[in-house]
Amino acid sequence: MPSSRIDPYSLVIVDVSLDWALNDIYDDLVNKYGDGVVNVKRMHNRDNQPIRSICVEFDSSEQVEHLLENGLIVIWHERKKVKEYYLPMLCFVCGNAGHRSSACPIAQSCNKRQRQYDVGQIAWSNSTLRKENISSSISSPIDSETTSNTSSIIPPTTSISNNSVDRLLMLQASKFENILNALETRMSSRISTLEKQIGQLTDSRQ
Ligand SMILES: [Zn+2]
Repeated sequence: MPSSRIDPYSLVIVDVSLDWALNDIYDDLVNKYGDGVVNVKRMHNRDNQPIRSICVEFDSSEQVEHLLENGLIVIWHERKKVKEYYLPMLCFVCGNAGHRSSACPIAQSCNKRQRQYDVGQIAWSNSTLRKENISSSISSPIDSETTSNTSSIIPPTTSISNNSVDRLLMLQASKFENILNALETRMSSRISTLEKQIGQLTDSRQ
C-alpha cells in the first residue's frame, strides 16, 4: 500500500550509480546548492537492497519545491531527474516502516497464537466435560449438570471476548494511525505556508 504523505523537506534523485559515495555527493550538492542540503541517504527496496536512487533532505521546503519544479539536479556535471519523496508508512503495533498496523506480521502472529490458545481451551473444556460426566455417576444429577455447564461454557466465551478485544484494539490503532497521518500532512503543508510567509516578510523588509 503506497503512502500518500509527501515529505516537503526531501526529494529523490533517480539513477544515481551505486558506486557514487554519499559523502562526495553531499559535498558536491552543498557546493552547488548551498548549506540548505542537510543529508544524503541511499534508498533501499523491500528486500533492503540499495537501489539507484538517493534521498536528499533540505532545511527549506521552498528549495525542495523549486528543485521539483525544475525537475532536475546536477551532480558532477550530470543532470539527474528529481521527484517527490514519500514518507514511509509506520506501523503503530511494532513501530517498523513499510506496513500499516492492520497488516502487521507481529499482530497477525499474535492472533494466530490466540487461535491456537482457543483450540487448546476448547480441548481442555471437552476433556473436563468428560471427567464431569464420569463423576456425575457418583454425585447428584443436578450438581453435575451445573458444574459441567460452567466448565464447558466459560472458557470458550472468555476466548471469544479476547478476540473481540484484539479486533477492537486493531480498529482503534488504525483509526489513530489515519488521524495522525492526516495531522502530519496538514502540519507539513502549514509549515511550508508559514515558511513562505516568513520569506515574503523578509523580502519586503530588505
Ligand atoms: Zn508492524
